[in-house]
Formats: sequence, C-alpha cells, structure tokens
Amino acid sequence: MRAYKYRTYPNPEQRVLIEKHFGCSRHVYNWALSEKDKHYKETGKSLSKRQLQDRLVASKKDDKEWLTDVNSQSLLASLANLDTAFTNFFQGRAQFPKFKSKYSGWQSFQCPQHVTVDFEASAINLPKLKGIKAKLHRPFSGKVKTVTVKRSPSGKYFASVLVDDGVVDPAPATIERENTVGLDVGLTEFLIDSKGNKTENPRILKASLVRLAMEQKILARKKKGSANRSKQKRKVSIIHEKIANRRYDFTHQATANLADKSHATTFAVEDLNIKGMIKNRKLARAIQDAGWGMFLTTLEYKCRWNGKNLIRIGRFHPSSKLCNCCGYKMEAMPLSVREWQCPNCQSVNDRDINAACNIRDIGLADSLGCSDCIKSSPVAISVSAGATAKGVESSQRGSQEAPTKAASAA
Ligand SMILES: [Zn+2]
Repeated sequence: MRAYKYRTYPNPEQRVLIEKHFGCSRHVYNWALSEKDKHYKETGKSLSKRQLQDRLVASKKDDKEWLTDVNSQSLLASLANLDTAFTNFFQGRAQFPKFKSKYSGWQSFQCPQHVTVDFEASAINLPKLKGIKAKLHRPFSGKVKTVTVKRSPSGKYFASVLVDDGVVDPAPATIERENTVGLDVGLTEFLIDSKGNKTENPRILKASLVRLAMEQKILARKKKGSANRSKQKRKVSIIHEKIANRRYDFTHQATANLADKSHATTFAVEDLNIKGMIKNRKLARAIQDAGWGMFLTTLEYKCRWNGKNLIRIGRFHPSSKLCNCCGYKMEAMPLSVREWQCPNCQSVNDRDINAACNIRDIGLADSLGCSDCIKSSPVAISVSAGATAKGVESSQRGSQEAPTKAASAA
C-alpha cells in the first residue's frame, strides 16, 4: 500500500459540501466518544463499534437527520477511526482519545469506497462529490483503497489516496559487514555515516523563527473571535506549513540518498528515545527541528521497498564513548568534545564518525550474533582516562573487569 497526496481545487459548491463532510465526520467522532464515556460511567463496560453503529443509524432517523446529507461511509469511517484511537491507547501507543475541535489545524474526512482518480481529466471523484479538480502530479497504478480529504490550517485542500499497487516488497538483502553503514544523527551535522560522509543540519525551523515569532506576537494582540485574528492565524499557519514542507523535502532527499542511491544494503541506527530527549529543554527545539523521528520512519519504509535492512540498536549502547579502534571506553564524553584521542590506542577519533562506526558494529553484532563484529563488548572495562589505561591488552580485559567491580562494590 502506498499513499499519494494531491492538492485539490474544489469549486465553491464542492467546498460547501466538503466542509459539511468535515463537520459531520467530526460530530460523529465526538458524539461516539461521549457515548462511550457515558456508557462506561453508567455500566462499567465499553461500547463496541457495532453498538455505536446501531446507535448512529437509529439517531440518523431521529434527531440527527441532517447527517444524511453526507456520505454515510465517511461517518462510519469516523467510528472506525475512534476505534483505532482506543486500540492505540490501550496498547500504550497513544494518549486517551480527545474531542476534535472545529478550530484545530487540520480538518479531514475519509471515503473508504467508490472513489476514482481520473488522470485524463485531472479530477478525483468521491461519493456525492464528483469531479474535484486536482493536480495529479504523480501517476499510480493499482486499486484505490481509501481517500482522505484534508484541509490545511492555511485553507488548502488535499486528497491522500491510499493505493494497493500489488507490488510485493523484495526480499531483504543478506546482512554483510562490507555493505553495512552505521548512521549517527546529530545536531551540528544532521547525519554522519561510518564512511565519514556528513550531511549538514538544515536548521529549518531556526531559519523561520524570527518571522514566526513576529507574526505570533501580532496574533496574540488580536481580539479573540475577530476577523483580523483569523486572518493573522492563517498567516502564522502558512509559515508553519512552509517549515513542514521544507522538512519533508529534506527528509525525502536524505533518505533517498541512502535507500535508493547508496550501494550499502544495510543501515544501522540508534533507536533514539526522542521523546525522552525532548524533555531536555535546552535541546528540545533543536531536536524537534532536526526531525529525527520522521527521518527514521521514512528511511525504514524506503529500505523495505528497496530490499534493504534497517537495524535499530538499543539506545543504551554508549556508542560515543567507545573507541572504535580498540574498544576502550571513556568515562565521560561531554557534547562539546568533537574530537578526542584514545588514551589506549592513541588513535584520534572524530566524535561523530567514531559513534557511527560503533553503531554499525553493534548493529552487526546484534543481528548476526557475532561478538567479533565489535572490538569489545560495550560493558567492558571502564578504566578512568589517563595513564592506567595504557598497555591494557584486549586479553587482559576480563581480568581487569573483576577488580573494578570489586572496588566499586567495596
Ligand atoms: Zn582506542
């Protein structure tokens, strides 16, 4: 399944009906959420999707007759979406479902059936909405599964077409050391690979921050509910949209360089705990700006499409503290240190490239199960930096570990 996003240009009539679909879909979602809540408080049991459907059909004949103006499949899709939201909540992937607001940024509704995309006429046909003009910049072949119609905060309309193209992903390549590249993500450089290539961080948000702050300040002064306020709100959302578009372009370029163009067939990355890192307020904005999470999810599916492997290693590996040449572990490695000399083997390590090499080796060790992929186990000695470290042979490491432990226990 692949998704294609097209910009659409509904005429005024279609626009009215699209807005009605947004409103009704949102209403059904919120209504179902409150029904579930009420039912749970009264009986201690949860309402199933089926029960909600029956209630919806009943109330359409009763007090919600106006819902018959829109495609009933879209309303059922709202119930299905709520159901998914609850499943995600119970499985710990998301927060408790919230009510959707008329004023929140994106509005959307789904059409799960009877949709056609007409490339000749550059139009999308939905139930009750025929011939919506669209810029179909990219063709696809396959069966249309669902279409989600959206309106951005700045007032642009889009259609996301989910297509089952019947293409089976190629079998993933065999993992080999020589075709594996370790990737480290950073703030100064967005991406560093174990071969020494660096991709600069475009700092997309930072570039627009002054302008954004200025427009937001103007917005804060506008009277609530006024026409000028909504005009200003749109201005702010256009800036946000531009930032998001630039980030999207950058992510797709950077991931295409790896998953489509690079000769490497396996990539190893650190499974970053981005949420945890964002709690560090000093770095939060820079990290969000870097868009790591989006980068990793995009890289993952592109690798799948191209028969490549993406190995995620645990985030607890001290990848930046280990010397990749000899396996020596530094006690501390402050963020400010960009280059360091290993006290054990004397090699001079670029902080990021060294970390990328470690990520590659740890990834290989994890997936191939060979301990000799890494020079040393990450839990090996941690001799304090300095003279004591010199002359420690790898064969001695085991014996070195014991007294260190004993000392700390004592
Ligand atoms: Zn070393």
